[in-house]
Amino acid sequence: MRTEAPVAKNEIVETEIAGLTHEGHGVGRVDGFALFIPGALPGERVRVKVLKVKKQYGYGKLLDILTASPHRTEPACPIYARCGGCQWQHLSYEQQLEWKRQQVVDALARIGGLSSVTVHPTIGMERPWQYRNKAQVPVGLQDGRVVTGFYAPRSHRVIPMERCGIQHSAAEKALGAVRDWAERWRVPVYDEERHEGLLRHVVVKTGFATDEVMAVLVTNGERVPHVRELVERLRQTVPGLAGVVQNIQTDRTNVIMGERTKVLWGRDVIYDELRGIRFAISARSFYQVNPVQTEVLYSKALEYAQLTGRETVIDAYCGIGTISLFLAQKAKRVYGVEVVPEAVEDARRNAALNNFDNVTFVAGEAETIIPQWAEEGMRADVIVVDPPRKGCDQRLLDAILAMAPERVVYVSCNPATLARDLKYLVAHGYEAREVQPVDMFPQTVHVECVVWMSKEK
Ligand code: SAH
Repeated sequence: MRTEAPVAKNEIVETEIAGLTHEGHGVGRVDGFALFIPGALPGERVRVKVLKVKKQYGYGKLLDILTASPHRTEPACPIYARCGGCQWQHLSYEQQLEWKRQQVVDALARIGGLSSVTVHPTIGMERPWQYRNKAQVPVGLQDGRVVTGFYAPRSHRVIPMERCGIQHSAAEKALGAVRDWAERWRVPVYDEERHEGLLRHVVVKTGFATDEVMAVLVTNGERVPHVRELVERLRQTVPGLAGVVQNIQTDRTNVIMGERTKVLWGRDVIYDELRGIRFAISARSFYQVNPVQTEVLYSKALEYAQLTGRETVIDAYCGIGTISLFLAQKAKRVYGVEVVPEAVEDARRNAALNNFDNVTFVAGEAETIIPQWAEEGMRADVIVVDPPRKGCDQRLLDAILAMAPERVVYVSCNPATLARDLKYLVAHGYEAREVQPVDMFPQTVHVECVVWMSKEK
């Protein structure tokens, strides 16, 4: 056993980069000791200053690239290094897709003990920019000017950002209009430390299929001055503006939105369409941020569900019912379960909007509702799960085993918890047949995938 690391803090070393961590950092080795180096790429030889040394690994700061990777690219954003929203703008898009697949392969093998599962190449975007339909930015002051942007690392100082390469251009326009309005009328900007001031965040949502835009002002208080001027300015600047909404958040918290929303102008929802199905999206409801790739992801989930029209299907963690309605096109009946009551209301509204009468939505925890159904003797032919990053609760996995559906389709945004959950299902009679990574978040390290599982014969 090694008792001491072969490098010391502040030491300068040279190393070869062999891989990437799940945070997107390069991994170098010095006498077998792993150094994580943000900004370094596989195949590169780099000079590094050691910043931190722990028992098993350390962190280094990239000083020089001695041999550059042929896959290194010039980041498109001028503030890329400071923003932190993207991690891989310096890596070619082709290689991003490769490494995302590799992360899934590695997690399945290391955490799930599943090294023989087929993992397909990541499905990427033709144009991997301006794909986000939602911007959510803090408002701050800099030298007396109203700015919108992102927080400086480990602080609550807002660094201005007027352009974002992965955001739909409507966001830029709406944010500009709000800044101009706030400056013109001296609307007080929220100060987090003193918990004073009005304007906290601005959220802009865009329907890609409809070009509708909603601007949401998150305020620390009820009264917004000069609303008419705000609306006028937004309408002049933002084509497709469908609603201006206020959300009130008076708590001292980093949760962005509060409980209450008020319409200042227009509608409280925008509409979007995925493969011909229409969805109403309100200020607070969850909706996938990359609609182009969402169609790809959901279509794959539908393909893996292999529906003929006779099946009973459960969609756990259903949000506003997007996957549920995709499934309802081809199933006898779909039951969606979702913990946020407003999302369930949206889901019901969406079912009605598209004339589906074979879908039922229930508000509650998947790990509470579905075990109850299993106990009451309900069975499903297919169960689809799309949990948040922490994965499925053990009680839900046990309920799936109790219901014994022919197929399980697992949609995941976190390969680590996916691998953990698959391991359990595989140990109890399911086979993981195919994994399809879909790039929902180009230029970042985030990986989304959909898995086809079936009961072993
Ligand atoms: N399938 C939807 C939503 C996926 S995001 C879509 O593609 O749009 C995950 C969803 O799970 C969120 O809507 C979140 O509110 C919900 N959720 C989180 N924990 C839950 C739980 N324990 N039970 C049910 N839903 C939960």
